[in-house]
Amino acid sequence: MTTMNPATGAATPPLGGGAGRGVFLGAPSVIGVPEVFGVAELYGDSIPADLDAPTAARRRTGAGLDGLSIADDLDRTSKLAMMRTGELGSVHSWELVTAVDGPGTRLTVFLNGCPLRCLYCHNPDTLNMRDGEPVTARELLARVKRYVPVFRATKGGITLSGGEVLQQPAFAARVLRGAKEMGVHTAVDTSGFLGAAMSDEMLADTDLVLLDVKSGDPETYLKVTKRALAPTLDFGRRLAQSGLPGGATASRPVEVWVRFVLVPGLTDDERNVDLVADYTASLNEIRPGTVSRVEVLPFHQMGRDKWTALGRDYSLGDTQPPSVELTERVREQFRSRGLATF
Ligand code: SF4
Repeated sequence: MTTMNPATGAATPPLGGGAGRGVFLGAPSVIGVPEVFGVAELYGDSIPADLDAPTAARRRTGAGLDGLSIADDLDRTSKLAMMRTGELGSVHSWELVTAVDGPGTRLTVFLNGCPLRCLYCHNPDTLNMRDGEPVTARELLARVKRYVPVFRATKGGITLSGGEVLQQPAFAARVLRGAKEMGVHTAVDTSGFLGAAMSDEMLADTDLVLLDVKSGDPETYLKVTKRALAPTLDFGRRLAQSGLPGGATASRPVEVWVRFVLVPGLTDDERNVDLVADYTASLNEIRPGTVSRVEVLPFHQMGRDKWTALGRDYSLGDTQPPSVELTERVREQFRSRGLATF
């Protein structure tokens, strides 16, 4: 067992599976969300060394697997067997963040593997499972346990992100279960495309889903992701039905934050945004309060270099971030449906 960083470096703020990370860094507490305490508010400007975690201050240069033991002494057969049972996962990186990825201070874990191919993906190095490092659920949960006091003090918890979390449902299920057994708040950041892979038991162990709705009309969704929109919409409706008599798939209601990445010339069409906003509002008609927050995430170019490094064609090289006016227009489209939007 050794401890190492992935050669690719890690999480520049991705947009999508791990949507918009960094965009809300330092954002104030908001109504409808459990009060957010920054790590800095708790500890002053610097993160104490004894937390021993890759932190937000380092996220633009990449947080790796520091502090986690890599199970690289397993042969291939054992690895595959353990991945099937969820004892082992393919992990890209982790970090300790605040005011992003859910309420409070979060231990965010990026898993490898994603079935989508978003044009704006800011972590293309998470797309293939084989590029991740093998980490056991037990190892990850030992790290979670270490931060339980921090989570309690900040009303934070663990967030599984990616890549696509539901590409490794057995591993995710184990981590979520273990976290709940410690009384830790759990969040899953997902495109919803593989929502059918999320079992009712997993849903019951999930407090919050960060649902990335990348477009409202199927053609734009296909253009953005190379995949179909319908599974995401179905998954969102299943979340809205959680906790309802008769339609419930989980024993208690799951909270949802909807994330929408605003890319000029790609997702900004007024009708496309209207469709996302209408859909989001419809979830609250199924179960009032399902979607407690909408995050409109302005496109940025911070992942461009990774595409080049990986030898992939990046088609958004000339795309500029949205203007303040455009971002406000889009946020207003959500707000006009009574949605708390940021
Ligand atoms: S390709 Fe996957 S990881 Fe990248 S933004 Fe899309 S959903 Fe997220």
